[in-house]
Amino acid sequence: MSAGLNLAQQEAVNFLHGPCLVLAGAGSGKTRVITHKIGRLIQAGLEPKRIAAITFTNKAATEMRERAKGLIGKAANEVVICTFHALGVRMLRQDGGVMGLKPQFSIMDSADVTGILKDAGGTTDAATARQWQWTISLWKNMGLNSAQAMAIAKDDNERTIAKIMARYEERLTAYQSVDFDDLIGLPLKLLQEHDEVRTKWQNQLGHVLVDEYQDTNATQYEVLKCLVGEKARFTAVGDDDQSIYGWRGATLDNLRKLPQDFPNLKVIKLEQNYRSTSAILRAANNVIQPNPKLFPKTLFSELGEGEPVRVVDADNEEHEAERAVARIQSLRAGTDAAGASHREFKDFAILYRANHQARIFEKALRKAQLPYKVSGGQSFFDRAEIRDLCAWLRLWVNNDDDPAFLRAVTTPKRGIGHQTLQSLGVFASQYKLSLFEALFSNSLPSVLSTRALSGLHEFGRYVNDLEFRARLTTGAEDARAFLTDWLKDIGYEKHLYDAEDSEKLAASRWTNVMEFCDWMAQRCGGEIDDAAGVSIGSEKKNLLEVAQTIALLSTLSEREKDQNVITLSTLHASKGLEWPHVMLVGVTEGMLPFRLDDEPGTEHTNENIAVRLQEERRLMYVGITRAQRTLAVSWTRKRKKGRELIAAQPSRFIAEMGLDKTTVKEDPREKLKALRAEFAQRASAASAESAANK
Ligand code: ATP
Ligand code: MG
Repeated sequence: MSAGLNLAQQEAVNFLHGPCLVLAGAGSGKTRVITHKIGRLIQAGLEPKRIAAITFTNKAATEMRERAKGLIGKAANEVVICTFHALGVRMLRQDGGVMGLKPQFSIMDSADVTGILKDAGGTTDAATARQWQWTISLWKNMGLNSAQAMAIAKDDNERTIAKIMARYEERLTAYQSVDFDDLIGLPLKLLQEHDEVRTKWQNQLGHVLVDEYQDTNATQYEVLKCLVGEKARFTAVGDDDQSIYGWRGATLDNLRKLPQDFPNLKVIKLEQNYRSTSAILRAANNVIQPNPKLFPKTLFSELGEGEPVRVVDADNEEHEAERAVARIQSLRAGTDAAGASHREFKDFAILYRANHQARIFEKALRKAQLPYKVSGGQSFFDRAEIRDLCAWLRLWVNNDDDPAFLRAVTTPKRGIGHQTLQSLGVFASQYKLSLFEALFSNSLPSVLSTRALSGLHEFGRYVNDLEFRARLTTGAEDARAFLTDWLKDIGYEKHLYDAEDSEKLAASRWTNVMEFCDWMAQRCGGEIDDAAGVSIGSEKKNLLEVAQTIALLSTLSEREKDQNVITLSTLHASKGLEWPHVMLVGVTEGMLPFRLDDEPGTEHTNENIAVRLQEERRLMYVGITRAQRTLAVSWTRKRKKGRELIAAQPSRFIAEMGLDKTTVKEDPREKLKALRAEFAQRASAASAESAANK
């Protein structure tokens, strides 16, 4: 197992029986330590299912499982590799019963929560509801319930939110539902308050490994402590300089506390960077230098000096996008200093601060006919048609899920009107029933007309029937047939065409529906890895089992694996990843670092600004260190502020990179050369193809 590991990495991998922290800069092989350590633990006799490796995203979990498979083969299927949230789901499904939670509880995603809060707080304004959501989420992450939040509320506004939080809690309980924060908070409660559950999990897990430890929050740390218990057999790897989720409650205190809470903690530092050239690494080290140091670190690379880091200036965003495209074309056409050519699209990434910046780059790439994907953008599961289908699936799994009930009963319309649903709602809350339970109540006829009642009953019976049949599906073919029948039954395709003015749009929505069904079917067949990690291995599952984990996934990320396309990504979503050629765009003062006073509703104390600036600097450090061979950083002379265009300067971080003073001016010949090369390449590909066809 020591192949491809340096001495310090080997030390971390071989330290099996106590708490271990690997603290090291970007690209030094921390994630590699985790995958190799999984293999080492198995080799040392630990059963694969007694190892848990916790990653920051589902996608990272899928990748880690792939890597582990490469090292240890099939055994990797049994290792628990998932996010903290998915682990929480697993714990709650198995043991949530002792807290009164049914195993088939629903998981409300962020959009569901906004909807419930609008309702609970009596507003139609989504922005207000989202602000409440934010505050409630922070409270929950601090381990507070609504009563405790009320006790610490600072002003009337916070007291109002605490009241709404109380109503929100009631509703979640009534719907047998949890939100994302509960997926951490409730398992913690479970472990803290139920000794037998805690003992069970401590015995179950022989070693816990945590990647990207610097971005865990306080509750996650407590969960970790409960899981590992006295024996404290765990491995955390992280980099304080890459902590970029402070705004979401992640805290570096978790790193500070570790040596205090575990006095026998083995701390291992890695100093060699295996990812980037010296030129890139120097820029990264320079940028992070002004930040206060939690732990001093040094990083070196033996990959040679490499190409100098380029600074590209542009007039505006359109121009910046054009230059990025030209750069990709010219890099693809040539060879680098080491004589290697990079023709693969997947070797390139364009990284930016905020989601909305992607659009202009997408346009430019489309115009140049270069294939790309946007990661970390609007999620597949946020599309209306997918939410429709998920509502039905959720209702089958958990009849008490009222939001799912309301969506399913009205999509497609089946002649059950608003009035009927309102009466049903009043009746249900009077008798403390879920809408679905209320529907079959013997007293319901007293408040509804016979016609309304029979419509509801018919719907109820239909749902029961579907639920029964869905439970019997095993494997992909079964699931596919079931889903096709069901969609035909409810006339979903027709519903899409009726609802959309544009046929093209309806068709594309229908394609999404088909893609979703296909993906569900594959998961039922165990053909694709269960990225949410809630169930393991490749055994066949029924549709309901698969449906339970959907809320945890935000993309069909498994499909992205083999795509040979250029990546567009936010800096936040690029964490842990690497590409041969990276372009950081919008490195313009006011955009990165993001200008605090562009943001409404935040307090701007000096301390607050300093802390935010440090996090922005870490974001820049993360961006730079994604690059393996070449890095270009671009800025624009004008930037948008609201609807206006204002004059702008290069980001202070560009100066902090300490590059040669000569910025690279746009050279029209560069573009021409790139176009020629691209043309020649296409022409030769075309002639090769026609030769092959002869
Ligand atoms: P980040 O901080 O960005 O998450 P990391 O510390 O997790 O980075 P890895 O992603 O594990 O770093 O490794 C960076 C690159 O270096 C990967 O391509 C990995 O395969 C390679 N690498 C790591 N260790 C070694 C080694 N000992 N020998 C050769 N290559 C290595
Ligand atoms: Mg990593």
